[in-house]
Amino acid sequence: MSKKDDDNPFEEMQKQLRDLLKNKNVQVAFAPFMQSMNANDDPGKKSEDSVKDNPPDEPEPTRDEKLESIRAFNRKPKEIRDYLDRFVIRQEQAKRVLSVAVCDHYNHIRTCLNDSQKANASYVKPNVLLLGPTGVGKTFLMRNVAQLIGVPFVKADATKFSETGYVGYDVDDLVRDLVKSADGDAELAQYGIVYVDEIDKIASEASKSGRDVSGRGVQINLLKLMEETDVNLHSPQDMMGQMKAFMEMQKGGKPSKPTISTKNILFIVSGAFDQLGENVRKRLNLNRIGFGSSDEQSHNETSVSRFLGQAETRDFIDYGFEPEFIGRLPVRVACEELSKDDLRDILLTSEGNVLEQYRNDFSGYNIEFKMTDDAVGKIAEKAAEEKTGARGLVTVLEKTFRDFKFELPSTGIRFFEVDDQTVENPESAMSELIEQNRDQVDDSMLSDVDRFVDEFKRNHGFELRIRKPAKVALVKLATDENRSVLAFCEKKFSDFQHGLSIISQRTGKKSFVIDRKAIDDPDKELSKWVVDSFGKKPGEGE
Ligand code: ADP
Repeated sequence: MSKKDDDNPFEEMQKQLRDLLKNKNVQVAFAPFMQSMNANDDPGKKSEDSVKDNPPDEPEPTRDEKLESIRAFNRKPKEIRDYLDRFVIRQEQAKRVLSVAVCDHYNHIRTCLNDSQKANASYVKPNVLLLGPTGVGKTFLMRNVAQLIGVPFVKADATKFSETGYVGYDVDDLVRDLVKSADGDAELAQYGIVYVDEIDKIASEASKSGRDVSGRGVQINLLKLMEETDVNLHSPQDMMGQMKAFMEMQKGGKPSKPTISTKNILFIVSGAFDQLGENVRKRLNLNRIGFGSSDEQSHNETSVSRFLGQAETRDFIDYGFEPEFIGRLPVRVACEELSKDDLRDILLTSEGNVLEQYRNDFSGYNIEFKMTDDAVGKIAEKAAEEKTGARGLVTVLEKTFRDFKFELPSTGIRFFEVDDQTVENPESAMSELIEQNRDQVDDSMLSDVDRFVDEFKRNHGFELRIRKPAKVALVKLATDENRSVLAFCEKKFSDFQHGLSIISQRTGKKSFVIDRKAIDDPDKELSKWVVDSFGKKPGEGE
């Protein structure tokens, strides 16, 4: 726990609040808050509002089930590995090591919860250090593990912590965020998983330049969390929480300080450790003559990550980590870079992969697509060139589908095929597709006209009975002008509201038939209707 929590955390706050509340204006401004505080303090006086402000403590049904499954944890490492295999391609070593660590951890928790006598007092928490380049599935692995076990999960980048917590994010905020991700349930949160990425960025510079940077301080704060400490559920910046504590003090009570213990929280830290791979390679004396020639240099840069798996404690210390910090991360495993073939396999076999998301997006408009094997290969190839692991797939798919997503919902096209040419040049593939289907008008486009009719009735009170040939003409004209049917109709009939009002005043007519003529020359048709209406008496409308 950080220093400010060891001191009386409320002292300075209380002093400031006391000064603040002496100010009359502030007293007025805070009056409603103070009333609700008082109501909350007295259980007999709990108002409906205060109940709304502070969610009731009653456990939600799912929460009990989650806690029960933690108490009864009985999974085996291979089962966890098999579950991960459904989602995560490659990373066999990481899956095995993580599965064991997770089973050990939750078995230990089960033992502690069911029979604390049996629990091993010198138990070492299997916190994990995951090494490996970006986008290879480090976070994805842990998210899936947390999902399977049913425990809350939170991820943050180490770079956003500041040592003091006065500016930026405090390491304790990680634990508070875990509670938030458990919907405020601290009991469930204490069995959760905290994931800290970019840990390599808080390596201390001390060993290199002789000066320390805040990295060391953050490491020490994190170390305390990973060991065992109680974290105040109210952050020092949480005015409401602090004020509540202050109010309790004022009433003569002891300030209640709700805390959460980090004893059973599993910590996963990860990082790319770019330079570490190179250091290990050097240590292993693999820098053979000729190996470092300029041609091979770039090859080396991408493949040094394979040496990460051979990093030892001293490599991490040399890199700028405190021995105690690295010592609290007994489980270390490296994730591999993903090859073009791995990226292909992700698209073809990983459950819930990004391609499925695109399928769902399109099916929202009843559009389906088929992807040829060549297209999958091309996407994987281009994604691999991005050098951002599986994230490259998102980039390439986004470029491929961007225009299709914009254009196709407003066309009659309900099926299309993606081949390698589409991936290579999506824009021309799409233009070709649209050109080939120019005359295709489908029900969804006609229903866009109906939506306009509904909108017109809602806004102006007149019913437009647009005949089918007129609807088809509207859709085709909109397509020719590359506009949405809705916007096209709005423009086409923009003067109708006024003309129809005149007719309605004279004849009481509220419903109008629109046929092909009215589409070809709406102004002429409307003028004719208006003129005709002058020859009629009220009530003579159709
Ligand atoms: P990082 O290694 O940087 O933590 P992530 O796990 O966040 O990378 O990966 C980003 C996304 O890429 C994941 O959400 C997942 O969809 C996909 N992904 C990454 N690696 C794999 C993999 N090995 N198998 C399947 N999908 C993956």
